[in-house]
Amino acid sequence: MHASEEDRQAIREAIRKICAEFPDSYWREVDRTSAYPQGFVDSLTRSGYLACLIPEEYGGAGLGVTEAGLILEEINHSPGNGLACHAQMYTMGTLLRHGSEAQKRQYLPKIATGELRLQAFAVTEPDAGSETTRLSTRAVRRDDRYIVNGQKIFISRAKQSDLMLLLARTTPYEDLKNKTEGLSVFLLDMRKVGGKLEIKPLDMMFNHHTNILFFEDVEIPAESLIGEEGKGSRYIIDGWNAERILVASEAIGDGRWFVQRAAKYASERVVFGKPIGANQGVQFPIARSYAHVEAAAQMRDAAAAKFDRGEKCGAEANMAKLLASEAAWEAANACLDAHGGYGFAREYDVERKFRETRLYMTAPINNNLVLAFIGQNVLGMPKSY
Ligand SMILES: Cc1cc2nc3c(=O)[nH]c(=O)nc-3n(C[C@H](O)[C@H](O)[C@H](O)COP(=O)(O)OP(=O)(O)OC[C@H]3O[C@@H](n4cnc5c(N)ncnc54)[C@H](O)[C@@H]3O)c2cc1C
Repeated sequence: MHASEEDRQAIREAIRKICAEFPDSYWREVDRTSAYPQGFVDSLTRSGYLACLIPEEYGGAGLGVTEAGLILEEINHSPGNGLACHAQMYTMGTLLRHGSEAQKRQYLPKIATGELRLQAFAVTEPDAGSETTRLSTRAVRRDDRYIVNGQKIFISRAKQSDLMLLLARTTPYEDLKNKTEGLSVFLLDMRKVGGKLEIKPLDMMFNHHTNILFFEDVEIPAESLIGEEGKGSRYIIDGWNAERILVASEAIGDGRWFVQRAAKYASERVVFGKPIGANQGVQFPIARSYAHVEAAAQMRDAAAAKFDRGEKCGAEANMAKLLASEAAWEAANACLDAHGGYGFAREYDVERKFRETRLYMTAPINNNLVLAFIGQNVLGMPKSY
């Protein structure tokens, strides 16, 4: 479904209304106690907006990446953060594009209502890092099951999810002619797996529920396989553009939050007999970061429009992620600087958002690798890897 400008404005308004129920104090408290923002996620689930990308025939809203981006942008434009629940939007696409009809009918309607939570996406491993063709977690077929052994790291929300999308090796690396093959995607129900799946939380720089996973003879039914065995990398790469656009949207939301907070504070705080924002040393960094955030938003809009028209958008999606994450970080620094010492006081929320927004330059993919994509795949320069 293609939403009109009016529909999009209505979506923004609806998200703002939901977010207004979760003010600064709510997010400060979940940050202080390292709690999962369950109340917020429940509210968003009930509203149906978390299922915006699920087609209507499977119980979702059937909207596009443009609208999904606006939803995440508005969440981050509020005191909140879409990271708590955005994985469902990214990961669901793999099931939608490559799952069987039976899998889609089994899972999507329940994901849409929130009865089943799909919030965990397990790719990264300690020894492979960004080089995903080197993943070594093994899934070996035995009769009607796969037996999984290995380790994953930084797997977010595994404890707040029923389902997990897992990328695991089904053919040993040495046996492959094409090294990008040999990995397979599984949708596993973590409540029902046999064997031992250990989930150990990691202590991170901000309130993010990420974990190390240990798979010890974990048994999953063979029907958990999505699509064809060995084609998993391809299926995951298919989802990357949407992921880049959605992450860019969160960064844009953060960027706008920082710019507005900074401009307001700089206009009100009086030192040396005038508002500090009258000084160009304070004003210009805020104005510059505003220009960069808005430019990133234009690139994100272009990427999302192409995506929703079914056109190639790898260049725009990667540029949007790069520009938005850098602009948000620039705005974060301008906001922190403008607040002086108060920027470091938790009650102003700047330091919390500052810690949160730094992630977008690093994950889900590092900006170095985004630049490598632009340099190598868009500009045709020689490959570094
Ligand atoms: C809070 C958080 C949540 C996360 N959530 C998830 C999740 O839910 N699921 C999941 O699967 N993963 C998740 N990740 C993992 C994230 O995607 C990885 O951190 C990322 O893929 C990079 O892997 P790495 O950390 O091992 O870095 P490395 O691959 O070790 O890279 C380290 C540095 O070297 C640079 N580098 C490496 N190779 C090159 C090169 N060829 N050219 C230039 N620079 C290079 C990188 O850009 C980076 O700066 C999360 C990470 C964080 C921090």
